Amino acid sequence: MKIAKSHPRYASLLVRQKIERGVQEGITSLNGLIAHGRGEAFDYLLGEKTHAFAIAAIEAASAMLLTAKHPVISVNGNTTALVPYELVSLANTLHAPLEVNLFHTSSERIQRIKKYLEKHGAKSVLLPEKKYTINHIASARKYVNKDGIYKADVVFVPLEDGDRAEALVKNKKKVITIDLNPLSRTSRKATVTIVDNIVRTMPLLLAQLKRDKKISEQALQKRVQAYNNAAQLNSAEKTIRPQA
Ligand code: ATP
Repeated sequence: MKIAKSHPRYASLLVRQKIERGVQEGITSLNGLIAHGRGEAFDYLLGEKTHAFAIAAIEAASAMLLTAKHPVISVNGNTTALVPYELVSLANTLHAPLEVNLFHTSSERIQRIKKYLEKHGAKSVLLPEKKYTINHIASARKYVNKDGIYKADVVFVPLEDGDRAEALVKNKKKVITIDLNPLSRTSRKATVTIVDNIVRTMPLLLAQLKRDKKISEQALQKRVQAYNNAAQLNSAEKTIRPQA
């Protein structure tokens, strides 16, 4: 269906359409629709705009990614459907691999996601390997790629569920997430939480990385050390429920 530009919820409906197409193409799971709906509700409460707490987190994320030894970008069915070009740009900017890891896993969907990202220009899309696992997680999500998450020091993992975010942290990885819900377990467990819609965040993060590439490693490390995730989450929570 063609959405009229004059529709008051044009931008939101366009994003919804991307998720619908993701399901039709076998990239996004049906559960991905539910996760998206939850995100939309929080976005509504946030006024569908990027707040200062998200900008602070984007700045910290950029510095953390640029100072990482082995950054890896973990993708799923929702992120691939919503921002494929931006994920590929991020991978190219950081010379980092993309790695597919799904909550509702299926080898067919994993392959489709890989192909979809390659169609959008991805050079390296890694898949989980049965020989390599991370600890503290019981499901098939423990399987990781030797050249990806297994050896990563920083994992960029937007729209994630809490168990996996927590497991990654327990495996001594620094975790950067994007999550519209500042109260989710993922938001609480991550090292850096960008409370914003991924479709708004990705272009901002790419622009920040471009600027930060000119900045010294020492200055970037200082920025990472100065960042306080709990304080930013607190600001986000106050925005959606001022009485809290
Ligand atoms: P948790 O296990 O972390 O408590 P959950 O069970 O709500 O969270 P899921 O449904 O697995 O987690 O994950 C979806 C998360 O992604 C939700 O917190 C939702 O708000 C967020 N989300 C959905 N769509 C977007 C989007 N476009 N941009 C940013 N965040 C989003």
